[in-house]
Amino acid sequence: MTELTLDPAWHFAVIGDPVAHSKSPQMQNAALCELGFGPCYGKLQVAAADLPAFVAAARKQLRGFNVTVPHKRAILPFLDRIDPEAELGQSVNTVTVEPDGSLSGASTDGYGLAMAIRERFQLEVAGGSFTFFGAGGAAQAAALHFALQGARALYLVNRTRSRLEALAAILARANPKLELQLAAPGDEARIEQFLRASQLVIQATSLGLRPDDPPPFRLELLKVNPGLRAVETIYHPTPFRRTCEAFGLPVTDGRGMLLHQGARSLELWLGQPAPVATMRRALEEALCGE
Ligand code: NDP
Repeated sequence: MTELTLDPAWHFAVIGDPVAHSKSPQMQNAALCELGFGPCYGKLQVAAADLPAFVAAARKQLRGFNVTVPHKRAILPFLDRIDPEAELGQSVNTVTVEPDGSLSGASTDGYGLAMAIRERFQLEVAGGSFTFFGAGGAAQAAALHFALQGARALYLVNRTRSRLEALAAILARANPKLELQLAAPGDEARIEQFLRASQLVIQATSLGLRPDDPPPFRLELLKVNPGLRAVETIYHPTPFRRTCEAFGLPVTDGRGMLLHQGARSLELWLGQPAPVATMRRALEEALCGE
């Protein structure tokens, strides 16, 4: 195994491939400075082949690290302990390096979304009904957290049926009482029914990242429920977000989710409350102009 040397100033880091776009360093370093640790959170592009070398270096030097695409599942075999939610979803975004060098994994993405909707809409997951568009990593982490936190109903829409069914199987295992219904993006009658029955719709596909992307479904359908609220997981304005605004539906973007998943990571590493207001300001500055 090739050796990997980390910047000696780092106690925390985010790894991914690519990772240049990550705003976690700005957000976490603002918090770490406020808490008296200094700017000790780095960012490192790690290819899949270099994951073992990174983990070996992290065990010796870091107190914790975040994991982003494509390593959220690949990191699992390196961990000594995995919390039940991350185990069920087979996805880890937060690793704590214990004082003895052992590694504990958790997923804070779903928590991040739950906190964001509580903050923005005063909406609680327990007892709620939600429509998700997408069944990729982000949708899976969020839907699983919602199922475990006692959501009443989850309605899932995704292009690839096999992915949808795999996610549904995990959710049914997580919460056998959950009402669970599935549809393809073209099944407008079912989508209409889902949106009518939901308190919140979550756009968690990657459609909207590029300007020429098609919408994830026929957006006119959003009109069927004037009481609906919406989350767009993408940070910049997308056709989904603009359509919600045009129809008068309260909508929030992915920043709240990003903020609160990061705050929870910091709390897991330090065992103390994260300075959320400072992190929010740093994130806004980092995203400003994007
Ligand atoms: P994945 O690659 O894991 O999943 C992508 C999802 O988008 C899948 O459901 C996929 O459907 C769908 N999709 C992609 N292209 C198309 C298409 N042409 N037509 C229909 N469906 C399509 O990505 P992630 O789950 O990691 O990310 C999804 C979104 O969430 C991204 O926009 C990302 O920016 C955002 N995100 C936000 C976070 C935050 O903190 N705010 C955190 C993580 C992600 P299929 O299964 O059919 O391929």
